[in-house]
Formats: sequence, structure tokens, C-alpha cells
Amino acid sequence: MERTLSIIKPDGVEKNVIGEVLSRFEKNGLRVVALKRIQLSKSDAEGFYAVHKERPFFGSLTDFMSRGPIVVQVLEGDNAIAKNREIMGATNPEEAAEGTIRKDFATNIEENTVHGSDSPESADFEIKYFFNALEITG
Ligand code: ADP
Ligand code: MG
Repeated sequence: MERTLSIIKPDGVEKNVIGEVLSRFEKNGLRVVALKRIQLSKSDAEGFYAVHKERPFFGSLTDFMSRGPIVVQVLEGDNAIAKNREIMGATNPEEAAEGTIRKDFATNIEENTVHGSDSPESADFEIKYFFNALEITG
């Protein structure tokens, strides 16, 4: 069993597809073991995306991530990190495979509906960024 951090980004909440996105995780064998709907401040978003602070899109990305509510969840299952990345699809929706969340819902490479941890180390950091131990139930 593995855990990963997933976010429905502001564009996903605006598009009113929270249930649809969560349903895709469940249909693919992942369980939601923690969940909340919150809004990040600009500095919360900068802290979360600190690994990208040198990238040219950092300012725009953190504006986007703080412009409206998000839904953050911990997903659990076999190979949850890789499985979630597969369900999400490529970063750029133009390159995302048919049937993936980003192919079906993303607006563009920035407003791409979902976030998913990309390694065990990032999953550990990202889960702790949003949830304490009492908020995650197996
Ligand atoms: P992923 O979310 O697929 O792991 P990255 O970690 O490379 O992708 O980037 C983090 C987020 O930054 C992306 O999901 C997207 O919202 C945004 N992003 C990535 N590349 C670009 C880009 N070239 N222009 C604007 N935003 C981008
Ligand atoms: Mg990433």
C-alpha cells in the first residue's frame, strides 16, 4: 500500500467536476483516506511549489493555485503514486492520453485540473503539508 497527495486545482473546482475527478480515482482502485476543500494564500502556494521556484512559470502558477478553492486528498492503494499519475495524464493536456483527467478537463498546460505527487519523497512532503496524522484514516 502506498499513499500519494492529489489536488483538484482551482480550474477543476470552477468547472464543477470534483465528484467526477474523485470518481476516477475510485474506479481505478484508489481510496480517498483524507480530504478537504480549502483556499491557499499566495505564500501557501509558493511553499507547496517551492521546488519550482526557479521556473519561469512560478509566479503565474502560484497566482493560479491561490485564486480560488481547491480540494486536497490523500489517495491510498497499490502503486498509488504511479497509478494516480497515469489517471491524471501528461502535464500538457494536448499530450495527455485519451480518457485521462487532464485530457478530458484541463484548459492548458498550467490550468490542468489536478496535481499528483511524483515520488515517495514528494508524497511524504506534500501529504504533511496539508494533513496531520489524525486527519488520515486508513
Ligand atoms: P506535473 O503537475 O505534471 O507534475 P510539473 O511538476 O512539471 O508538472 O509542473 C507543476 C505544475 O506547473 C503543472 O501541473 C502546471 O500547473 C504548471 N506548469 C508546468 N509547466 C508549465 C508551463 N510550461 N507553463 C505554465 N505552467 C506550467
Ligand atoms: Mg510535478
